[in-house]
Amino acid sequence: MESLDLMTKIVSLCKRRGFIFQSSEIYGGLKSCYDYGPLGVELKRNIAAEWWRSMVYKREDVVGIDASIMMHPKVWQTSGHLSGFSDPLVDCLNCKERFRADKAPKVAAGTSVTFKKGGKANGDALTGAVPAHGYVCPVCGSPQLSDERQFNLMFRTNMGPVDPLSEFVRDAHGKDMTREEFRTKLDEAVRSTAVYLRPETAQAMFVQFLNVQQSQSMKIPFGIAQTGKSFRNEIVTEHFIFRSCEFEQMEMEFFIEPGTQNEWLKYWCDERMNWYANFANKKEDFMLRRHDSDELAHYSDDCYDIEYRYPWGWGELEGVASRTDYDLSRHAEASGVKLSYFDQQKVDPATGKPGWRYTPYVIEPAAGLTRTVLCFLLDAYSEEKGVDHEGKEKTRVVLKLHPRLAPVKAAVLPLVKKDGQPEKARAIVAELRRHGLNVSYDEQQSIGKRYAKHDEIGTPFCITIDPETITSDTVTIRDRDSATQVRVPTAKAIEIVRERLESLA
Ligand SMILES: [Zn+2]
Repeated sequence: MESLDLMTKIVSLCKRRGFIFQSSEIYGGLKSCYDYGPLGVELKRNIAAEWWRSMVYKREDVVGIDASIMMHPKVWQTSGHLSGFSDPLVDCLNCKERFRADKAPKVAAGTSVTFKKGGKANGDALTGAVPAHGYVCPVCGSPQLSDERQFNLMFRTNMGPVDPLSEFVRDAHGKDMTREEFRTKLDEAVRSTAVYLRPETAQAMFVQFLNVQQSQSMKIPFGIAQTGKSFRNEIVTEHFIFRSCEFEQMEMEFFIEPGTQNEWLKYWCDERMNWYANFANKKEDFMLRRHDSDELAHYSDDCYDIEYRYPWGWGELEGVASRTDYDLSRHAEASGVKLSYFDQQKVDPATGKPGWRYTPYVIEPAAGLTRTVLCFLLDAYSEEKGVDHEGKEKTRVVLKLHPRLAPVKAAVLPLVKKDGQPEKARAIVAELRRHGLNVSYDEQQSIGKRYAKHDEIGTPFCITIDPETITSDTVTIRDRDSATQVRVPTAKAIEIVRERLESLA
């Protein structure tokens, strides 16, 4: 399968079958915003639930929180997001494209390049030399670009009943100000009531470190996990839900003793790689890549990316970072609250006396939930050539989602809408629902079309009710991946579905 072709097929399947729609589609959509449809919400929730199960429920040393999306502006000032969290933005003076300087095609300074006027295919050919910055416009190849300016990625809004802009206009009206004074006063006015949508979920775990540790009597090492929405005003959004302004994260901060970060970093890299491998069909499409020293964030002493082989190449899925004591130390300093931990059992390495108070180090496995949705859709998509019951060649599209991630666990299908078959089917549906499973009753269209639909949305089992069901209380149960059917007693079919899902837990 041509790889970019695969992306087109996924986007089309997502819309056709109700996984993901463009936001506000009837109004032409809103850039990079997407809505999860009836099947997409199930897939996304199932992924988040599996993450939570592995990070929280299966462990004694990790607990969860659900923090507010808006936090005190000082959090972002202290974390460095207010000043440092920005992208170098550049405008192309030729074609007007706006892009990130650090993502632009690199061309050695001084090189003479040709490009089309206005970026139009039929435009005159122009020539220019690449300036010292060493890159060109990603769209038209022009070296004629604006200066770089820093653009903050956080979404800003205002809290409270006062509109800072109205206040500013009232105060500034009729006053003689230079452009610079105007700019500074406007900025002050807006900032005075500004709050920000969080650009990551992680900071809440740092600022609630003490509350969680004390209320739950947690002993180091321990972690705090959270899933939730984050927002970044990305200049370049791309690849469907891969990079969007609104996205969901699954992050965990694991607090450890200073000096143990190497072993815990390795531990969490392994844990997280195993988690993906457990749900993936093609394990070779996941890899661990260590950051080069010049790639490391200023707070990090070591970091790995878990990368996935997307149709456009390897790209980030999750980062596992050793964040040292940077965040807790910064927040302690800025807030005046001691964000430290006292270990009675340990000897203080500085004094040699029993009892050690220290600022914990942190290992952070930070995964993108939205990206994981895309990655598992790509991983699951397969096409199988075969012949239908009339001997015609056809392609079977199967979404080989891991059964625990599949939106619908089983479809119950009466062959016909009469002879007691619907009643029997509904009784089986009710029994499966009683066990907490999301199952579907489906009586529309031919049985072949219903199988094809459930293959395409990744339903692991189809249970079919036919005349024999009524006489012998048996059904056929069809396996999605092999497309084979076996006849079993009705009670056995229910057991097969339940046991298969539980055995994979
Ligand atoms: Zn351009």
